[in-house]
Amino acid sequence: MPKNYCPRCGSLALLSHDGNQYGCEQCDFELFRNVAAAVGVVLVHQQHILLVKRSKAPQAGMWDLPGGFVNRGETAEQALRRECQEELAIQLDSELAFLGAWPNLYAYKELEYPTLDIFYTATLTNRPQLTADNTEVYDVTWMSSDACRTLDMAFNSGALAIAAYLRR
Ligand SMILES: [Zn+2]
Repeated sequence: MPKNYCPRCGSLALLSHDGNQYGCEQCDFELFRNVAAAVGVVLVHQQHILLVKRSKAPQAGMWDLPGGFVNRGETAEQALRRECQEELAIQLDSELAFLGAWPNLYAYKELEYPTLDIFYTATLTNRPQLTADNTEVYDVTWMSSDACRTLDMAFNSGALAIAAYLRR
């Protein structure tokens, strides 16, 4: 097990046996790197699913479902509505139906963040005018359900969410 620097005493004595709980052998400090919550949505309009192309790491250039990390104090639904507004300027007023939650690993700047990605689905009656926020997303498209079945997705959790939606 590689040792890490302790954020309290600075010794190279921080150890973890499970990658979740860390303990310092010098000063007894304990640190938890718990799973972070993230949300995503399978947005549907006339048998087409809305996909975004990621413009930044990790997995830049790959297809993903709209979503992001849950902020402190937010409900999953609030986080999802906020992300849709920020990334795509979509006001998500539709009812969100829970689809499932799958674990994921999000590698960013030398750190790997374990997440639990919580997915919802919503059906839009009107096709919204799409504008991608280019810092997060550089392309956005409606893809047919059939094309989504075999699509190479940025994250396995997103692929599992689409598969779960298509089984419904
Ligand atoms: Zn310490």
